[in-house]
Amino acid sequence: MKDTNYHHIFFDLDHTLWDFDQNAAIVLRKLFLECADHLTHISFDDFFDRYSYHNDQLWGLYGVDLIPQAELRLERFRLSLAEFGVTNRDIVNHFVLEYPKQAPLQTHLFPYTKEVLSYLKSRYRLHLITNGFEEVQHIKLNNCGLADFFDTVTTSQNSGVKKPNPKIFEYALSVAGAEKISSLMIGDSVESDCLGAKNIGLDQVYFNPKKMDCKHLFTAQIHCLSELKALL
Ligand SMILES: [Mg+2]
Repeated sequence: MKDTNYHHIFFDLDHTLWDFDQNAAIVLRKLFLECADHLTHISFDDFFDRYSYHNDQLWGLYGVDLIPQAELRLERFRLSLAEFGVTNRDIVNHFVLEYPKQAPLQTHLFPYTKEVLSYLKSRYRLHLITNGFEEVQHIKLNNCGLADFFDTVTTSQNSGVKKPNPKIFEYALSVAGAEKISSLMIGDSVESDCLGAKNIGLDQVYFNPKKMDCKHLFTAQIHCLSELKALL
């Protein structure tokens, strides 16, 4: 892919640069321990398994605008704790209120994130397109020391729509002053990032650290961010 005419690189944030799973697990384990007296019959791993299930399901619904943010934030904890018979409102609310405050403060990134962004920053203009919540994503960027790498940050809240809606990509290109032909999207989601970009004619790199099977053909696929230095 080297020798291309890219000028603008658009990154996804969660699960692409910011290690969402690791950061979430740290906070959930802390909150779980804080409520340990009420959760003695549950192992953290079992709770985390059910939380992950409900969180994925609810993010799917949120992604297609079937539920609002507040419902996602409540239901992922209410449903997973209810599976273990925990319906105490104070316990549910402890998770509901504390998780969104504490998770964005976590700073685990995927390997080579800063090294690769430093390399790319000297060659391209860098941007973010994220479906995450506006206030949350900026806290993450500042806490991780990533904010200065990016010229623009497009969220689903400031663009009004979520990936893979073409409008969020068009909005991000416009805010960045970028042309589609000289831009590239990099992200971990086949649907939201890669097919979303491909569908509007924007080149795309599929970040696939878990080496999942993928039937789609993208401009490039990588398993580690360090591979970007050979591509760009
Ligand atoms: Mg992602």
